[in-house]
Amino acid sequence: MRELSDILFPRICPVCGVILNGAEREICLDCLSSLPLTYFWLRADNPAAELFWGRVYFQRAASLFFYNDGSPYKHLIHNFKYKGRKETGVLLGRMLGKRLRESGLYTDIDFVAAVPLHPLKHWSRGYNQAGIIAEAVARELGVKVLKGALRRRSFTATQTSKNAQERWSNVSGVFRLARRRDVENRHILLVDDVLTTGATLETCGHALLEAEGCKVSVATLAFVE
Ligand SMILES: [Zn+2]
Repeated sequence: MRELSDILFPRICPVCGVILNGAEREICLDCLSSLPLTYFWLRADNPAAELFWGRVYFQRAASLFFYNDGSPYKHLIHNFKYKGRKETGVLLGRMLGKRLRESGLYTDIDFVAAVPLHPLKHWSRGYNQAGIIAEAVARELGVKVLKGALRRRSFTATQTSKNAQERWSNVSGVFRLARRRDVENRHILLVDDVLTTGATLETCGHALLEAEGCKVSVATLAFVE
């Protein structure tokens, strides 16, 4: 029997638009079973890993599913990031974590860390979507989330007047390593929602890798084709 709230406020699958039944969470079973999985977690060399070649050294890189601009699966990420659908992130994060664990390629992860959100965005959105994914992935891997390992620097408008060279050094230093001791000689799995150009993960990676003996791998929910 459907719950009263489901009758009064039917929940809709964000991918195909059907009304979800009581057993379905966030997405209908049809759409969930046809989620375009990447299977990147099964191989060390994959398109996510290749994206970082020559830029930053990551041990492993994986994403859960593919999407592009025309993909209806884009709505899953959009609702999670901007419409408060935190449960979607938990569901997909656990799917990702389970696959990383089962692949056997992520067994030496010590901590999971989330890409930090700009403090103003965090305040207006109320949550960091990467943090929600990090918690779900960490639970599946049986490790803890390391909070505050990286911090996002805040900039003022005066940087617009700086020359190109200075601007570049500002961009590359957006994140700073705040808990060096905690990441020294550790393997950190850095987590974000979407992998597009890889610029954010690359910058975070460089900051973490400043710590002695630190190794970094990355995982995201979506990989943009
Ligand atoms: Zn659906």
